[in-house]
Amino acid sequence: MRLPEFPVAGGCCCGAVRYSLKASPLSVYNCHCKDCQRYSGAAWSMSMIVRDEAFVVESGRTDVYDRKADSGNVIAMHFCAECHTWLWNAPPQPGITVLRAGSLDDMDWAEPVGNIWTDSKAAWVKIDPQLTNFSKGIADRTPLFAAWTRAHEATA
Ligand SMILES: [Zn+2]
Ligand SMILES: [Zn+2]
Repeated sequence: MRLPEFPVAGGCCCGAVRYSLKASPLSVYNCHCKDCQRYSGAAWSMSMIVRDEAFVVESGRTDVYDRKADSGNVIAMHFCAECHTWLWNAPPQPGITVLRAGSLDDMDWAEPVGNIWTDSKAAWVKIDPQLTNFSKGIADRTPLFAAWTRAHEATA
């Protein structure tokens, strides 16, 4: 998979919130947890882990909802204050943001390298066994970061 020229841009449905991403994400993967299914209204959500220094909000305001995860962690979920598109989460780990990859203007390059919470996936979703998959959530995302790096080494 070939990475694009950075920066790349994205934003919400109404256009109020615009952001740019100045470097490659650390990983892109699918989350099949029940919360992601409800928030996205789909069978999974695409999580794109970006370093805070590579992520710049260019315009707009977000409303924040503090979601209490099963782990007890509080995750700040950011939605466009105007149109309420789900845009990103601030996880408890410092230095990173979890962007919703579907908010990129062009996500052709952002092919997920793995899946988490496959235990709660919809029965009809097929998981590629070649990817880096986990039945539950993971506290340490290192294997998903490594899988992203491996997938892009050849074209780096
Ligand atoms: Zn909006
Ligand atoms: Zn999830």
